[in-house]
Amino acid sequence: MKIAICAEADAAEPRVAGTPETVKKMKALGADVAVEPGAGLKSGILDADYEAAGATISRDAARDADIVLKVRRPNEMELTGYKKGALVVAIMDPYGHEAALAALARAGVTAFAMELMPRITRAQVMDVLSSQANLAGYRAVIDASAEYGRAFPMMMTPAGTVPAAKAFIMGVGVAGLQAIATARRLGAIVTATDVRPAVKEQVASLGAKFIAVEDEEFKQAETAGGYAKEMSKEYQAKQAALVADHVKKQDIVITTALIPGRPAPRLITAEMVASMKPGSVIVDLAVERGGNVEGVKPGEVVEVNGVKIVGHLNVAGRLAASSSALYAKNLYAFLEVLIDKKTKELALNWEDEILKATCLTRDGAVVHPNFAPKTA
Ligand code: NAD
Repeated sequence: MKIAICAEADAAEPRVAGTPETVKKMKALGADVAVEPGAGLKSGILDADYEAAGATISRDAARDADIVLKVRRPNEMELTGYKKGALVVAIMDPYGHEAALAALARAGVTAFAMELMPRITRAQVMDVLSSQANLAGYRAVIDASAEYGRAFPMMMTPAGTVPAAKAFIMGVGVAGLQAIATARRLGAIVTATDVRPAVKEQVASLGAKFIAVEDEEFKQAETAGGYAKEMSKEYQAKQAALVADHVKKQDIVITTALIPGRPAPRLITAEMVASMKPGSVIVDLAVERGGNVEGVKPGEVVEVNGVKIVGHLNVAGRLAASSSALYAKNLYAFLEVLIDKKTKELALNWEDEILKATCLTRDGAVVHPNFAPKTA
């Protein structure tokens, strides 16, 4: 069995899908591992490090691979270099990209989308949304502090007192929880909001204050999968009024609100930005999905009346060594589901909910129920 760790075609993607640590584990699973030259460089991993772990370095790593590991979905050019029937595992970004999914199907590869991993206990170790969001939540606060012209903690000095920064975290999933914890560690006074009631206790346990419109709709706002539902227009208006009043008193706002398969909800309007003090900083972690903040620009830091709106892309990738290490471990855990440890061969159990939830294409067709073309 041959496994390829490919370099990323997208120059803006610094992460890599395998590390020397996971190469060793794949070798122990009985696989030959080939790595494309320079694949790990932006994550601080040299070709020689992969070789020392037992991999070969080859420009043609993917050509005869049974399994291709990547960070991002391969483009059509890359797909021409893969074997028909190869298993391709990556963050596939399937929503709204029907043409790209059709290309995967046409290439005859069996494509797995790591971000569709079901949120069950057994799959936690494979959960790339969590591993990457956790780092992004941390980095968002670090980015905010770098843009903020003041200190986060209260400082009492002989020359006077510097007040603690007030930080407001909007959306308390994995990224938001880490943002709360990081802002607290830096000494900010932290408040947070979310539409899922389950979050209230988690916010309190991290020493932050929960702010939300707690009506009947709020009590029902979580899906069985643990994600947020899209809220009614009425709820959104009530939430906006509460948030508007709160935001104008904040120094730092970090937004992380997402709804699977939908554009990010708009939480901060231009008027709210205008109501903030000059010097305040907003970091929008939802920018790749349309943004939570009006006026955010993908990949840019814009300044509106002295308020900075930070729209960095691929925030987990801004900590490439850490995010690659965790992503590679997520992938390795997934490989353990695909490979029989005794025979050391591929053994795909299509009844396994992990495979059913993540498989996008198979035998030349888009097979995932959420993305398969609808027949009349
Ligand atoms: P996410 O990235 O989909 O969304 C981020 C947050 O934004 C969520 O908390 C969501 O409720 C919130 N949000 C959406 N619309 C909002 C709005 N209008 N206003 C304010 N907030 C809004 O979420 P996530 O980080 O993937 O986490 C979702 C849940 O899944 C969490 O409870 C998390 O703990 C849970 N989880 C479970 C597992 C597991 O069981 N294996 C793994 C990871 C996460």
